[in-house]
Amino acid sequence: MKKLQQQLLDWFQENARELPWRKTYTPYHVWISEIMLQQTQMDRVVDYFNRWISRFPDLKSIAGACEQDVLKLWEGLGYYSRARNIIKSANILVAEYCGKLPADHNQLLKLPGIGKYTAGAIMSIAFNKEYPLVDANIERVFARLFNLAQPVKDKKTSAFIWRKAGDLLPYGKAREFNQALMELGALVCIAKNPRCKICPIKTDCQAFSFDLVAKRPVLNAPAKTIFIEMATGILEQNGRILIQKRKPKGVWANLWEFPGGRLEAGETPEMALVREYLEETELAVGNLKKITTVKHSYTIYRVTLHCYFCSLMDGRLEPVLHGAQEYRWVKPEELSDFALPAGHRKLVDHLQNEMGLFM
Ligand code: SF4
Repeated sequence: MKKLQQQLLDWFQENARELPWRKTYTPYHVWISEIMLQQTQMDRVVDYFNRWISRFPDLKSIAGACEQDVLKLWEGLGYYSRARNIIKSANILVAEYCGKLPADHNQLLKLPGIGKYTAGAIMSIAFNKEYPLVDANIERVFARLFNLAQPVKDKKTSAFIWRKAGDLLPYGKAREFNQALMELGALVCIAKNPRCKICPIKTDCQAFSFDLVAKRPVLNAPAKTIFIEMATGILEQNGRILIQKRKPKGVWANLWEFPGGRLEAGETPEMALVREYLEETELAVGNLKKITTVKHSYTIYRVTLHCYFCSLMDGRLEPVLHGAQEYRWVKPEELSDFALPAGHRKLVDHLQNEMGLFM
C-alpha cells in the first residue's frame, strides 16, 4: 500500500495542474472551488472562480451580499441552489464562526450545500486532515483499481469505495493524496481510452492486469432523457421590455425571465405563448414574430425554447402576476444586469450577437 501511495504522491507532484485555489489552499478558496466543481467541468470553473474571488475576495464579503449580484456572477454555471447555499453558509459562518470555515467535519456537514464529499474536500485539501473524499473521478479509478463488478453507485459498492478511500490515506498527506487520486481520474484514468501505459499505479490495477479496463466501471442503465418544448415572448412597450422574477422556490428560483412556459398537448408554440402570457400575467399578446429556437439541457431535460417578439393586444399595460414574484419594464441594454436562466440568456445573446439588437 505504501508503494502505491508514494507512486501517486510522486506523480501528483510532477503532474498537478496549476489551479488558482492550489496557490495557498485558503479554506475559503477551497470551499468555493469545490462547490463550483460539483456539477461543472474544471476548465469552465477556473474563469468563474477568478471572477468570483475578484468580486468576493473573502468569506465576509459574501455575507449579506445581494442575492441578485451573486446569481448574476453564477449565471451560466447552472444549479443555482449552490450559489444560494454559499450565501446562507457565509451568513452562518460570520454569525457563528467568526467568519471562518471550521476545521471540523461535523460542523461543516451542518452548513447548507455541504455534504460528505465537500466536507471531506475542505477537511483534507484546506486543512490537510485525514478525511477521505469520493467524486466521480475517484469512483472510476477505484472501480478499475479494485476491479469492481457492480455499479459504483450501488450502496455496498459505494460504501466499499469510501472505506478504501479512507484506508489508503497516508498520514499527514491527505491534501496531496486526495487531489492526486482525483487528478489521476481527470488526466490519466479517464472515462474513454484511459492512458494506462503512463499510469503510475498500473502494476496495482486489477482491471489492467485482468484486461477488463474497458468494462470498468460497470454502468447503471442511463437515466431517461426528457424532452420539453417551451415558448417565450419578448414584449416591448415604449422602449422597455417586460421581465419577471421567478418564485423563490423551484427550478431557476429568483432568476429573471421573459414570460412563457411549456407547450401543452396539441398546442403550437404560438398558442402556448399567448396562453402562458394570459395565465402568468393576464396580458393579452399577439402579433407574434419568430426570433429563433434555442436548445439547452439541464440534468435529464433537453429543452427546446421557441422565442418570439410579441405585442400587447389591448390597453392593459401592467401585468397581474400569477407565476412570478416581481416584474419590471427594463431597457434592453439593462438585461445584462439580471441573472437569467441559460435558455433566456442564449436568447439575449442571439439578439445581440446575431441580430445586433439590445446592445
Ligand atoms: S492502469 Fe489504467 S485503468 Fe488502471 S488505474 Fe491506471 S489508467 Fe486506470
